[in-house]
Amino acid sequence: MNKNIIFLGPPGSGKGTQAQKLISDFNLVHLSTGDIIRNAIKQKTKTGLQAKDFINNGLLVPDEIIINLVKEKILATKQCFILDGFPRTIVQGKALAEIARPIDIVIYLEIDLDKLVNRLSGRLICPKCGRSYHEISMRPKVDNLCDNDQSSLIKRIDDQPDKIKVRMKTYLEQTLPLINFYQNQKILYVIDANQESQDVYNDIKKVLRKIDDNY
Ligand code: AMP
Repeated sequence: MNKNIIFLGPPGSGKGTQAQKLISDFNLVHLSTGDIIRNAIKQKTKTGLQAKDFINNGLLVPDEIIINLVKEKILATKQCFILDGFPRTIVQGKALAEIARPIDIVIYLEIDLDKLVNRLSGRLICPKCGRSYHEISMRPKVDNLCDNDQSSLIKRIDDQPDKIKVRMKTYLEQTLPLINFYQNQKILYVIDANQESQDVYNDIKKVLRKIDDNY
């Protein structure tokens, strides 16, 4: 796979899960801005300290901080990449276009918004590898342990109902305009993310097969 990919979609639409599937099949780098920030907070870096209150309250981290972080990560890799959770604003989309690594395809995971509260409030996360599970619909093989590295799973602070509400509002106001932004560039592909995870993945692969000669 020789393409730089963006996964766009609301919180809980499956961006992280689908990105994990893709990197296990193809030689791509997974750049999840949420994971990068959570790691920075854990390591108490300057960026982590600046970002902590925003992320814990379900708010977007200021554009300037996140743009610099992503720029650094993209320029540090020669491989093709999947951006999961970036861009989330038009300002970020425009800044990304300035980086000398062009985006080939934007995969928009479209989902009924009323499904998301349930998905997010039951979500369990591996604090080590970032893999996500669900208490009811996507349980780990052993209760509360990550299948990948056996770490104890946690609930994210921003997956509480009041924070979910803030994140949805932010998504609708600030991230949704990116759909038009990329539609105008004719690189946006819409995937029905209401389906089972494996069916969503199969649809993503169909789209990638269509656009990538090296698939
Ligand atoms: P995620 O893990 O993608 O759901 O992101 C979790 C949180 O990280 C978001 O609610 C924001 O606080 C922050 N974040 C992640 N990506 C971005 C971004 N592109 N711009 C601003 N904040 C972000």
